[in-house]
Amino acid sequence: MTDLTFVDDDGEVVELDPDEAAGLLEITGALEAATVSACPDCRSRVLAVVALSDLLDEAPPHRRANDLLALADDAPTLHLYVIDGAARCEHRRWRDPGHEEWLEAVSPAGPAPRRP
Ligand SMILES: [Zn+2]
Repeated sequence: MTDLTFVDDDGEVVELDPDEAAGLLEITGALEAATVSACPDCRSRVLAVVALSDLLDEAPPHRRANDLLALADDAPTLHLYVIDGAARCEHRRWRDPGHEEWLEAVSPAGPAPRRP
């Protein structure tokens, strides 16, 4: 089961199960230092690629760190997007430009994609 999904602007994804996600959030201080914009009600967020790499470099080892570093290294833009797969959240209180950017990035991989 996927708990947190990391996706870049190319649609490349790294999926973490609940154990991996909990461990990652613990060793990275909940990704706070790399967060550009986040939903106040769940763990969905926009991350700065460079700051994420720094956080992972400095954090204790994590078994998915290399996957995440590779995703960060190959990201076509400066941002990565985290989708909280466990939350039933509509992100109504997430009101800044980061939310728009996040929506655009994650919608193809979202739970109910709407294609024309
Ligand atoms: Zn939310």
